[in-house]
Amino acid sequence: MIVRARTVVTMDGAPIDNGAVAVSGNEIVDVAKFDEIKRRNAGEIVDLGEQALLPGLINAHCHLDYTCLRGKIRPQKSFADWIRAINTEKANLSPKDYLASINDGFAEAQGFGTTTIANLTAFPGLIPEIGAPIRTWWFAELIDVRAPDRASETVDGAVESLKSAPNWGLAPHALFTASRDLYRRCEEIARRDHILLTTHLAESGEEKEMFHDASGPLYEFLKDIGRPMDDCGKKTPLELFLTFRDSSTPLRYARNDNNWLLTHLNELTESDFELLEKSKTKFHVVHSPRSHDYFKHSRFPFEKLRALGFNISLGTDSLASNASLSLFDEMRAFRRSEPGISPDKILEMVTVNPATALHQENALGRIRRGLCADLIAVRCNERDSPFEQIVEFDGSVVWIMVNGKL
Ligand SMILES: [Zn+2]
Repeated sequence: MIVRARTVVTMDGAPIDNGAVAVSGNEIVDVAKFDEIKRRNAGEIVDLGEQALLPGLINAHCHLDYTCLRGKIRPQKSFADWIRAINTEKANLSPKDYLASINDGFAEAQGFGTTTIANLTAFPGLIPEIGAPIRTWWFAELIDVRAPDRASETVDGAVESLKSAPNWGLAPHALFTASRDLYRRCEEIARRDHILLTTHLAESGEEKEMFHDASGPLYEFLKDIGRPMDDCGKKTPLELFLTFRDSSTPLRYARNDNNWLLTHLNELTESDFELLEKSKTKFHVVHSPRSHDYFKHSRFPFEKLRALGFNISLGTDSLASNASLSLFDEMRAFRRSEPGISPDKILEMVTVNPATALHQENALGRIRRGLCADLIAVRCNERDSPFEQIVEFDGSVVWIMVNGKL
């Protein structure tokens, strides 16, 4: 099949006006000017007209479990109160509700042009019942705050369920809900099975207050439910994460930061940045602009992280703290906070960058010969720059190809 459009945004250099992509099976086999593609390839021609053809978008952090909680939780006085509020909502949900929620979330994400999603689920046992319509990295979200002595069992049980998924990883929830042993077990499995890891880190001021000062609403909340608090009062969350990983894996070569997607990093101190500079750590970073705004966290240190060479992607997070699963909405929210960043760089944060974070730079995120045929189209006129029009696109995506299929 040959797909022609007003412009083809390959993410490899300048867009190709009057461009086309040849697709065979699930693969992109050629991309160039329409005339050249016609000369070099046979097959049915689909002309998308006044549209930009671009790689399908990649959501680097999401919880489809909570699609049904859209609009249900107002911003709270404290982060701890928000956790209480979501726990109250979750207590009313059954496995059937979660299944419906996940399926609705997939449909919504796809409708906004997302063709790959890194999805955290607290219910990996439901995965075999779900026919994901887009490429999905399933991360089991793991919490052992009420049973830290059973960390390995918690992880190993989840791994059994995950093995039915084509792409999977592990997500120790956060330093305040997952024990050191749980993180350690996840790293062991990652080395054994070559999987990815993700966690929420340095998200809120209360998390920083809890670990650094042993005080604040989150500290009190977790102390009350019986969490051992002996790791509080010394280090920042980032410092704790980096140093306990050092102690859990004494063989330096065994550490692989490239396997980690760290979500949030809103609340980093000057000493954290010094540590990052010294440690030469290079994990991947995921930022959720609208969830960030909902919680009114400190300004996301985009420029500082970028200057240190971190690969930064965007994710929607869940609809318990966001209004839609649209990465276009996410790009626009990011642009409002970082107006100096050009639209092509913003588009990289939902294509090329998350593909790299998922170790799929040779399969996803660009329109290039040999990569997977995950493509979308959005309206595009000839006056304005295609990147500008893509980032400002506000609507549903009607033309989507996932793995060569419309
Ligand atoms: Zn999250």
